[in-house]
Amino acid sequence: TDLRQPRQHKQKQKHHRPGTTKIHVVTDEEVPRTMVDKERNRAYTTMHFLGEGGFARCYQVRDQEGTTYAAKVVAKQALEQEKYRTKLQSEIVTHGLMKHPRIVRFHSFFEDERNVYLILELCDNKTLAEMLKARRHFTEPEVRYYLIQLLDACAYMHEQKVVHRDIKLSNIFLDHAMNVKLGDFGLSAVLKSQEDRKRTVCGTPNYMAPEILFGDHRHNQMADIWSLGILMKIRDNSTRPTYTYPENIPLSLEAKDLISKLLVNDPDVRLSISNVLQHPFIQHRHLPVNIPLAALTGRPILR
Ligand code: ADP
Repeated sequence: TDLRQPRQHKQKQKHHRPGTTKIHVVTDEEVPRTMVDKERNRAYTTMHFLGEGGFARCYQVRDQEGTTYAAKVVAKQALEQEKYRTKLQSEIVTHGLMKHPRIVRFHSFFEDERNVYLILELCDNKTLAEMLKARRHFTEPEVRYYLIQLLDACAYMHEQKVVHRDIKLSNIFLDHAMNVKLGDFGLSAVLKSQEDRKRTVCGTPNYMAPEILFGDHRHNQMADIWSLGILMKIRDNSTRPTYTYPENIPLSLEAKDLISKLLVNDPDVRLSISNVLQHPFIQHRHLPVNIPLAALTGRPILR
């Protein structure tokens, strides 16, 4: 019997843009029932499919002790393209450095003839993107709760001289207790020094800070703070955040003020992490003790 059979699903068809080389995302048939890490002498049994991204498919797996993980599987065939080799390398090198409760833990990676496997902390409740899709919008206390956790993750990353560069709803995972875990370090970089600001243009355009979008070489860690400002503004799951305030959802003055101070073009004027934490939106309003699971599908009752 195939362990994956109870959760049959159709594999997503990738849109193939003319002029680009088609990427090979691993198929179910190419994923072994047991993933074997020969070097560490560990085996992971495939339980079920979790989701598919641009270049990988993720499965829930279980090790010999019964601990569950998310295994991200990338076909080696995809790595023939430099773009995907670089992405995987960033993920392995940078994500591998990160050890923080608000960041998806990167446990290990290994390969066989066909694929590369990344063993990650399992996040049971998908991402903020799916949650927003089901909900249409979040309440401000929820935004405050998640923002504080994300600032915690950013403070740690930046201390370690890492820039994520792709903070967006679909990269913010939720664990079993509805706490956020920042994931997908495929576009991240390690800065050589505080002053080393990267020139590379990358990221998801709508979330990208202007200094990255317009090639300003001064871009650095403040770019992640810009993305947090965009996150606060998104009213539904559209991939095009508008730059005007949502009309149908009343926003508090504190929220508007904070957003306007995060979305400042000049990264040197943009609020720093500690300034955000001191802002009245965080300091003067109700902070829930936790977020109930009910928040995944509807407006929660917060305490
Ligand atoms: P890609 O790098 O190809 O974009 P992702 O990292 O987005 O791949 O992973 C693809 C999908 O797998 C995600 O959208 C999500 O549904 C699922 N996934 C990824 N990482 C985890 C995790 N740690 N826990 C649970 N599900 C995950």
